[in-house]
Amino acid sequence: MRKKIVAANWKMNKTFADGLQLIDEILNTTPVNNNVIKIIAPPFIHLAAIADKLKSKEGFAVAAQNCHHLKSGAFTGEVSAEMIASTGAEYVIIGHSERRMYFGETSSLLAQKVNITLANNLTPIFCLGEMIEDRNANLHLEKVKQQLKEGLFHLSPSDFSKLIIAYEPVWAIGTGVTATTHQAQGMHNFIRSEINKKYGKNISENTILLYGGSCNAENAKDLFACLDVDGGLVGGASLKANDFVAIANSF
Ligand code: PEP
Repeated sequence: MRKKIVAANWKMNKTFADGLQLIDEILNTTPVNNNVIKIIAPPFIHLAAIADKLKSKEGFAVAAQNCHHLKSGAFTGEVSAEMIASTGAEYVIIGHSERRMYFGETSSLLAQKVNITLANNLTPIFCLGEMIEDRNANLHLEKVKQQLKEGLFHLSPSDFSKLIIAYEPVWAIGTGVTATTHQAQGMHNFIRSEINKKYGKNISENTILLYGGSCNAENAKDLFACLDVDGGLVGGASLKANDFVAIANSF
């Protein structure tokens, strides 16, 4: 039985004080479903304080939104996986389309980030998804297959079985245009079948696949009801406690 997960990607939002206040609001917004793991991915500056606040709260965990691909050194402004682990965070989002687009992150760089994340006992939440041009040209399956292969398929079966994948069609992120349940289920089923081909049935059936892209309190129920959708990676709607909790309660 795969775990159900809803992850909040705050992106570059919330001051330190506002971030802590949002956590308090989330914790005060009941009822929360303790069987759903709620992962909060704030900016780096919040990690230690939020990890501390959530450490005794059942069903909560903390993620970084990115990490550097090397262990340590003269990389001004960067944050390593080891540093992230030292805050109490347990997950790292890797390969978000905004990192791929605005920071030029390539598949080979992302593969290194996955490696260093796993080496530090952190769980990668690996994002992939096609651009609108790919979908219009009916190339979306090919594109996602390539991202899977280049970013993840170098991993050993035991390492692969530790990670989470988030399918985030780029055309749905922050646009208000959500993938239909047919589109989401179709791609998730395709991803699972590619994992099956590479790693076999057991690993493919146990890999957690999240959907991301304009997921909100209204559409989450239908999306999460899809057979191969195990939860969501949520941007905009995760910045309001009521909306985030409602999404987490949509299973
Ligand atoms: C995201 O950035 O991962 C995301 C899914 O954003 P939004 O929910 O705002 O589309």
